[in-house]
Amino acid sequence: MAIVKTFDVIIIGGGLAGLTCALHLSKQNIKVLVIEKNPFPHHKVCGEYVSNEVLPYLSSLGVDVLTEGAVSISKLKITNINNKELQTKLPLGGFGMSRFHLDNLLYEKVKETSEVIFKTVESVSFFKENFIVSTQDSTDYKAKFVIGAHGKRSNIDKKLNRNFIEQKSSWLAIKAHYKYNLSENIVALHTFNGGYCGLSKTETGAVNACYLTTYNSFKKFKGIDDFQNNNMSENPNLNHFFSKAIPLFDSPLTIGQISFQPKKPVENHIFMIGDSAGLIHPLCGNGMAMAIHSAKLFSELFLKQHTYKNIERNQFENEYKKQWNKTFSNRLKTGRFVQKLLMNEATANFGFTLLNQFPSMLNAIITKTHGKPLNNA
Ligand SMILES: Cc1cc2nc3c(=O)[nH]c(=O)nc-3n(C[C@H](O)[C@H](O)[C@H](O)COP(=O)(O)OP(=O)(O)OC[C@H]3O[C@@H](n4cnc5c(N)ncnc54)[C@H](O)[C@@H]3O)c2cc1C
Repeated sequence: MAIVKTFDVIIIGGGLAGLTCALHLSKQNIKVLVIEKNPFPHHKVCGEYVSNEVLPYLSSLGVDVLTEGAVSISKLKITNINNKELQTKLPLGGFGMSRFHLDNLLYEKVKETSEVIFKTVESVSFFKENFIVSTQDSTDYKAKFVIGAHGKRSNIDKKLNRNFIEQKSSWLAIKAHYKYNLSENIVALHTFNGGYCGLSKTETGAVNACYLTTYNSFKKFKGIDDFQNNNMSENPNLNHFFSKAIPLFDSPLTIGQISFQPKKPVENHIFMIGDSAGLIHPLCGNGMAMAIHSAKLFSELFLKQHTYKNIERNQFENEYKKQWNKTFSNRLKTGRFVQKLLMNEATANFGFTLLNQFPSMLNAIITKTHGKPLNNA
């Protein structure tokens, strides 16, 4: 196996976290390689609602989503099977854009300054202050720093023996685009027995429907159509959606084994960003902003240590862990709490009544799972 090239930083995974990190670092002339297994553009299972907290930062990296057709979203609506409804103005607001378009926008920008290759990383080894990253075609790449931006679950997690990968997860998710008449400025969260479904518009005018449910709920039905028509449609809003919406994909995309277990932000000296450091429950609608935010957090610390070269790796790792926990741990905890509340019929009904009477409590929960607008790179 020959070492092909040496880089300052190798990023495993070209999702939002990896691509943002590449943009930030290469702006300061860091030599970056991104290794992504799937060529762009590609669809991803995701709710496709992004919190506005990332707008100034993205635009400082040269990515302006609003001029690229992102749909502005300012309201959140939550409903349940008893047709109870909550509506609120989102404190920061957000935008709707398909991952097909958003990830590709970032990729087009990244490839102007960094190298991006489409391969699967098979192994990462660390020896004498250097990493060797090997891809499926037995090519080796060398760097002093490796970033794990490989998302919520990857073969790399297995190779690294990460704790969460051995534990069975009870969650699966399904997503597709539809032609359907939904207000532009709303993100809707419709709950049903065993899960919830997000609906919001994307830049093409299509509505993205993405739902998360448990295996236990899903396996009682004959398949996706049966589940949608006979379980999800108990919620009158979803009944209306599935009876009127015209599917735009040949078949929905599905993913399984979604784990919300806590993870470590640094493992085997690899700095984890985005979902590979921790995944917030999707109902908070903040995973993408967190992925982008963690890329910023890492990049800023990296650039600082790069300037003052006397900083020890251990010190850098500890500082990143500390900053990551300070920034995201409470959001993840609140996300877990809200998820539990919403998934239990009795507490959810009580919650709907309570939050209808005290709408400021809903805003407080949203604020607790979101960050402040990120400043420029
Ligand atoms: C059902 C669901 C709905 C969601 N809805 C929302 C929402 O509405 N709003 C929101 O903000 N967040 C949402 N999220 C969360 C959001 O999708 C993630 O937080 C976000 O995608 C994280 O970005 P990332 O870059 O960390 O990971 P990803 O976007 O998953 O990128 C990881 C990349 O790594 C690549 N990769 C993996 N392994 C390897 C390997 N070995 N070699 C090379 N490449 C590799 C993958 O191909 C992938 O492109 C949702 C999540 C789920 C599960």
